[in-house]
Amino acid sequence: MPDFPTKSETLIVRNHILLSNIEFLKGVGPKRALLLQQELGIHTFADLLFDFPFRYIDKTTFHQIRDITEDGSTVQLKGVLTDLRTIGVGRKKRMSGKLRDETGTIQLIWFKGFQWIENLVVGNEYILYGKVNLFKGTATMAHPEFEKTGSQQKPVRFEPVYRSTEKLNQAGLDSRNRAKLVAHLLERLRGDLIPETLPGYLLQKTKMMDRQEALEYIHYPPDQERLDRASFRLKFEELFFSQLRLLYLKQQRTLATAGYAFLVVGDHLNDFYRQKLPFELTNAQKRVIKEIRKDLGSGYQMNRLLQGDVGSGKTMVALMCMLIALDNGYQSCLLAPTEILASQHYRSLSNLTQGLGIRIAYLSGSVKGNQRKETLRWLHAGEIHIIVGTHALLEDPVRFKRLGLCIIDEQHRFGVEQRSRLWQKASPHPPHVLVMTATPIPRTLAMTLYGDLDVSVIDELPPGRKEIKTLHRTEATRPQVIEFLRMQIEAGRQIYVVYPLIEESEKLDLQNLQTGYEALLQHFPRPKYQMSIVHGRMKPEDKEFEMKRFIDRKTQILVSTTVIEVGVDVPNASVMVIENTERFGLSQLHQLRGRVGRGGEQSYCLLMTGFNLSAEAKKRIDIMVRTNNGFEIAEADLELRGPGDIEGTRQSGQMEFAIADLGKDGKILQAARALAKAILTKDPQLQSEFNAPLRYYLDHIADQITWSKIA
Ligand code: ADP
Ligand code: MG
Repeated sequence: MPDFPTKSETLIVRNHILLSNIEFLKGVGPKRALLLQQELGIHTFADLLFDFPFRYIDKTTFHQIRDITEDGSTVQLKGVLTDLRTIGVGRKKRMSGKLRDETGTIQLIWFKGFQWIENLVVGNEYILYGKVNLFKGTATMAHPEFEKTGSQQKPVRFEPVYRSTEKLNQAGLDSRNRAKLVAHLLERLRGDLIPETLPGYLLQKTKMMDRQEALEYIHYPPDQERLDRASFRLKFEELFFSQLRLLYLKQQRTLATAGYAFLVVGDHLNDFYRQKLPFELTNAQKRVIKEIRKDLGSGYQMNRLLQGDVGSGKTMVALMCMLIALDNGYQSCLLAPTEILASQHYRSLSNLTQGLGIRIAYLSGSVKGNQRKETLRWLHAGEIHIIVGTHALLEDPVRFKRLGLCIIDEQHRFGVEQRSRLWQKASPHPPHVLVMTATPIPRTLAMTLYGDLDVSVIDELPPGRKEIKTLHRTEATRPQVIEFLRMQIEAGRQIYVVYPLIEESEKLDLQNLQTGYEALLQHFPRPKYQMSIVHGRMKPEDKEFEMKRFIDRKTQILVSTTVIEVGVDVPNASVMVIENTERFGLSQLHQLRGRVGRGGEQSYCLLMTGFNLSAEAKKRIDIMVRTNNGFEIAEADLELRGPGDIEGTRQSGQMEFAIADLGKDGKILQAARALAKAILTKDPQLQSEFNAPLRYYLDHIADQITWSKIA
């Protein structure tokens, strides 16, 4: 817990020099200013200062050509230019060359900038720097940076490299010249002009570098140690403030929003528990239900995220929560993103609660006419206890008598706006909200994305599940795959075959699906075999019909696009065949695999691909084959793709950090969060004068997403 010292903090000033237009920096001027704005969004001194190098070139060490073994690595070489020639004419014109050191020769290639290259002299020694392309054992470097040996100034270990664009390069604003601009800027800012944003006591306690120093060293690090400390300080700052903001919001919300207190433990829950529960709850389920119950009884509105890997039994948790609501005289609704899922939930909840006098209804776009009218009427009259449905539940005519709890399955398809529509359906208080997701979100992301929600995790699968066997197969072995499927069907199992479908190539993808379906028909002819086909272009009724045939075991194979991705539960299905696996992301593959392995039988996931796989696709498949652990996969996904691409986070401004990397900086994030928490516990409104910088941040800066504006 932080101790507050007695020295008061300097406040952050407005109209600061950092907010000056970039045009007025030495070496910029109006033309370049315009380019910097257009190309990189750099408008002010601050923008330039906060556009950090994305790497550093070590000019003190040289690689040997022999040692180049990694494709895509960036190296500095010293050697003699042994060849330089022009190939092709006109638009096909290129220049090629060779550089040799004591250990080998590397191929060089240029597609433009010939005039300058022609000045190079064969036989001279050069230092060259660039990215290596390794193809079938031959190393090539395209557009390397060149320097004549001896012309180099004292080599530095950390030459900053900034992002740049073709236009900027042409205007003389390549990375090196950018570095010079930054140097001018740092010069001008010397002498305490960069305001500190963190309270002094926090800096002392954590022994962190102050902001001025960190900003200087991140651009021009004198040594590794200070580079590390500078980058730590800046990452910490970003993550700390993002956490402070989220935790503060959460605190405000819980303090502000009164909710219904569900204090009664009544017959519905007890009866169900004693008579109906078909299995022993897992410890994780028990723990999570306890957590939720505590929220529900607190008198404050609950906003909780329930994370649990596919098959971990979230539905049961949802049902028990709804029974608690019912015992307290409140209605519940369960929202699912698709018709298939909603109707499946409806069926399984109805089955589970049969004979207990619990009235459950279903509503979706396809419920029409009288049935719809009746449902709406009974719901409004309070005769319906639990309503399960799709987005249709959000519409205006849907009114409750006493809505107390909303459960949202597979959250990332529901936006904030939709959540607020639910809120309006209850009064005087908003309903308790439980959001369930089977997308395992790495801890670091969860903290940043849902930092303002409480999170419960089911981290245990029901007992007796057999680990799903995952195998990678190519076209060459398709006959064996077909044989394998036949054996599984003979043994009474059912099979999913999934095809990718993305909007951009929807037509082609649907064609693939159709072709695949017809090919399977050849192998599994009617009437002996029956197949269902489901895709997003079908009418909801038809989808539903086909799906139901599969669920009712009338068909043995379900061919589909990813519409079955989330939540579908057919315990008898034991094989998941994924076609064109290389086109799926890791999280999605994991979701799909989770459709099997739900019964007691050994289940399989067959990842079908072509022969030529990109390195990244290969990695994804390897991970899938290696592990069944959703969290491990989510972490790997985060590392492979970076946070920007993880499903459900794409539009989130909260993912934009100037320097912190959620894939790599989990430890810093946790430390930052712990500190932010401790500070808010001690000083919830941040009223202490020592926390003035933090208060200032929340009041003035928190809502601006661009971090560069912190000045
Ligand atoms: P998900 O978390 O993916 O939504 P479900 O709620 O659909 O998972 O549960 C998956 C399957 O596991 C269902 O068939 C369900 O009946 C079963 N199940 C849930 N909890 C348990 C448990 N404690 N013991 C045994 N089976 C369970
Ligand atoms: Mg589910």
